[in-house]
Amino acid sequence: MVVEFDAIVSIDLINEFVTGKLGRPKFKKVVKATRELIERSGKFTVLVQDSHTETDPELRVWGQHAMDGTKESETVPALRGTGPIIKKHTYDAFYDTPLEAVLMGQGAKKVVFCGVVTDICIIHSVASAFYRGLIPIVVEECTDTYSSAQKKRTLDYMKMNYGAKIISLTEIVAK
Ligand SMILES: [Zn+2]
Repeated sequence: MVVEFDAIVSIDLINEFVTGKLGRPKFKKVVKATRELIERSGKFTVLVQDSHTETDPELRVWGQHAMDGTKESETVPALRGTGPIIKKHTYDAFYDTPLEAVLMGQGAKKVVFCGVVTDICIIHSVASAFYRGLIPIVVEECTDTYSSAQKKRTLDYMKMNYGAKIISLTEIVAK
């Protein structure tokens, strides 16, 4: 049975986190799987881009990355144009952004969160979706992080604490 859902939120599939200094070659597979999900489902998609200014608290932890207005903070070419862009300023894609309003405007309740990295921006955004009464869904192929063990722990954590549905790509797009 194919899992039903209303919208896709792509998080940080931007140059910095794919081919840039915080990227990993394996994250290209996340881009590919996310593109497949967007194309095959035809669902409304939002592209959330990490986009920092000098005073963002996150820079104290990670140093400069994905600075607003730079090429690094732009969505990767393979996903560009698949939906409206929302700039975020910390891990949580809802915090101080119009994401909730945009999803409500679409009547979206069941939302798939794709992107990198699973144990930072994805989990914070999934938690935030849960606080707002949305049903978060995470597709295993459509997210990744630096450590495979940490990815697994984070998927388990999101399932246990936020009721997130953790599924595979074949469960959401019929082959
Ligand atoms: Zn950041």
